[in-house]
Amino acid sequence: MADSGRMAVGVDIGGTHLRVGAVRGYEVLAYEKERAWSSDMGPDEVMDIVAEHVRTVVDVAGLDMNEVEGVGVGIPGRVDHESGEVIQAVNASWARETVNVKRMLELRLGLPVMVDHDVAVAAAGEYIYGGHGKSDYFLYVTLGTGIASCYIANGKLLRGAHNSASEMGHTCIDPDGPRCVCGMAGCLERLAAGPAIARAAGMRSEEVVEAARNGEPRAVDVMDRVVNYLALGFVNVINVLDPDVVVIGGGLSQVEDVIVDPLRMRIRKIYRSPFAEELEIKRATFGDDAGIIGAAAQFGQEYADLS
Ligand SMILES: [Zn+2]
Repeated sequence: MADSGRMAVGVDIGGTHLRVGAVRGYEVLAYEKERAWSSDMGPDEVMDIVAEHVRTVVDVAGLDMNEVEGVGVGIPGRVDHESGEVIQAVNASWARETVNVKRMLELRLGLPVMVDHDVAVAAAGEYIYGGHGKSDYFLYVTLGTGIASCYIANGKLLRGAHNSASEMGHTCIDPDGPRCVCGMAGCLERLAAGPAIARAAGMRSEEVVEAARNGEPRAVDVMDRVVNYLALGFVNVINVLDPDVVVIGGGLSQVEDVIVDPLRMRIRKIYRSPFAEELEIKRATFGDDAGIIGAAAQFGQEYADLS
C-alpha cells in the first residue's frame, strides 16, 4: 500500500452521477454524492460543482486543502491522460466537445489534477488495493450499462494509440446481430450489457435477473444467452492477452448467482488452454467506491508505474 499518511481526493464523474471522496489508501474518509446532472449545464457549471464537493470532503475529513496531495478524476469517454482533455464524454451533455477537465479543476482548486477514463481508474483501484494478489497480467472488465476492459501488464496500463485499448464491449460477437452505437453490428455490449438484457426481456435488467432467479423460462433463456455472449467475449480477449488474473467489476458483477458464477463456468467450458486451470476469475472488491478509490490512487506511489 502507498504511504498511508497521504490523502488525495477521488472524483468519479459519470453521465448521470458525481461521487467525490477524500481517500487515504483505500479508506474513504469523507464522501459526497450528487444527483444527476441537469442536461442544460455547461462544463464550467459542472466543474464549479465538482470543485465545491472537493472542498467539502476535505473539510469533512478534518483536513486542510494544503494537506491534499492532489485530485484524481475518472470520467467516461476518450480521455487523454497526459493533457487531461476529455475528448468525447459519452452520455455527458456538458462534454460533447473537448473539455480540459484537468486545467479547469486545477484553476479552481490550486491543486494538481490527474484525469483518466473511468474504467482505467477502477482497474487501478482493484489492481493496487483490491487484494487480488500479485498479478503481472491483470485484466479488469466492467459489466454494467456498458462493457469495457483494461489491461495492466507488468504494472503498465495498456492505453493504445488513441487511449482506446479498453473497448472489449465493441468486439464483434455476431456480425448479423443488431446495430451498435459504434457503427458496427453484434458488439458484445449491444448483446450483453444491462440495456440489452432489458431489451431482450421487455423489463428492467434487475427484474430479468430476479425472474431468472425464480426460474421464469423466458428470463432464464435471456440470461443464458447473455452469459454465453459474455463468455465468448471473455475467452476471445483472454486468448489475445493471456492474463493471470481477471477481475469482473461494474453493476452486473454484483449478481453472483445469475451472472458471475454461470459466466465463470461457461468460460471454463469454452476456454481451451493448457494453462486454463491457472487463470483466476474474481469479482471486484470495490463496488460504487471503485471510481473514487482508483481516481485517488493516481496520486499513490504505485500509480506512477501504471501510466
Ligand atoms: Zn459497438
